[in-house]
Amino acid sequence: VVNDRTLIVGAQVNGRVVDVTIIDGVITGITGISDAIEPNPDDLVVEAGAGALIPGLHDHHVHLLAMAARREGLDLDPLGSPSEFDEAVALAAGAVGDGWVRASGHDEHRHGALDRYRLDAIAPGARVRVQHRSGLAWVLSSAALAEVDVGPGGWPEGVELDERGEPTGRLLRLDAWMAESIGVRAPSIAAIGTEMASLGITGVTDATGSLGAGRLEILRDAVRDGSLPQRLVLLGVDDPADVEGWAHLGPAKIVIDELHGLDPDALAAEIADVHRVGRRVAIHAVTRAENVTAATALAIAGPMRGDRIEHGSVLPPDLDPILATGGVVVVVQPSLVRERGDHHFDNVAADDLPFLHRAASLLADGVAVTVGSDAPVTSVDPWLGIASATLRATRTGRAMGLDERVDAATALGWYLADPLDPGGRSRTVRVGAPADLCLLDAPLASVLAEPDRRHVRMTWVAGRLVHR
Ligand SMILES: [Zn+2]
Repeated sequence: VVNDRTLIVGAQVNGRVVDVTIIDGVITGITGISDAIEPNPDDLVVEAGAGALIPGLHDHHVHLLAMAARREGLDLDPLGSPSEFDEAVALAAGAVGDGWVRASGHDEHRHGALDRYRLDAIAPGARVRVQHRSGLAWVLSSAALAEVDVGPGGWPEGVELDERGEPTGRLLRLDAWMAESIGVRAPSIAAIGTEMASLGITGVTDATGSLGAGRLEILRDAVRDGSLPQRLVLLGVDDPADVEGWAHLGPAKIVIDELHGLDPDALAAEIADVHRVGRRVAIHAVTRAENVTAATALAIAGPMRGDRIEHGSVLPPDLDPILATGGVVVVVQPSLVRERGDHHFDNVAADDLPFLHRAASLLADGVAVTVGSDAPVTSVDPWLGIASATLRATRTGRAMGLDERVDAATALGWYLADPLDPGGRSRTVRVGAPADLCLLDAPLASVLAEPDRRHVRMTWVAGRLVHR
């Protein structure tokens, strides 16, 4: 809904109750009640009832396509082995009866090579389609292939054939053809966009590394047709021209992995290459060794203010001076304490536990912190994230690192950080700012006393009402 002018009447902004005017996607006026504005018939007038009006929330680390895939079918990404893959597909086939099994996130390195014969053996007779994690390739079971009307021209190019001319089940870059012949659609981003809007989220940073062509197109279409109303920052893109006009290029994602060997010098060279073109880096580092490597490499390369460490899950405090002086931002996931804490107590080495999911001690050491849900790894609900950051309780109620608690205002501030400068100042509701806004149903102090998604009443992105 776009109105010429939106008047938000009687909202709490920075502790004062005021009227806020929005024109053309920008906040154009903030006035005391005494200077009340006369509404025009075409205005959208919202009575805020002294509820807080805050900048829209930004989640600084999500994976949109994985979120969509998880909603619509079997998400293979969390599965670590071929046997887990087999088990999950068999289970899904049992659950859908004679419907389709839709799965996405196949990774041949973890899940093993795949063709229709393997799918037939896992789920005999079932119609199964599995999308590769790149989004570019599919594998169909024999029963699924049998659904396809090949037509007089035979199989199109991209359908892999064996030496006998029979399809192996593997299809490359045939999304459009699949859509036509068996009605496969790319996972819908719309439901996620709507859900995030209902949470007050007006922007996200998609932290997926190397978004290939197919996946980038899905995101671009979702932005263009409005199914994703949020502002979008992308890390996994190399060429700014690929996102021009519909998304922002964030830092370059670099994934390091202890299991594949860690080399601070090689990483430093990679960082320097990115810095050379004026871009920052976002280094995925989870374990202690990965964080030591990331910080060491940043020190060697010379950090650029705004470089990021994604996760920083086990971050020894002796690295803090490097991060603090370099202006490196640690993108934390407070919800992990709640959602995975019980698992961590049993599986994280005892000497790593004190440094697990740090927050308050990073801030005390002058390290910039911001927040990302890593959805679908944890819930995309920022209010759960804020609650978890203040409570540090696991699902079963065990306390984890109480010294690392922050107050709710601090945690909310992470979501209010500038999408392109997450270590910098929080955005505020002020004249001239883009009308990316979240209206709550109560004054801020009472919402922060009990953070919960139910408090979100309305959300605007660039003045457009995206949730009510
Ligand atoms: Zn992630």
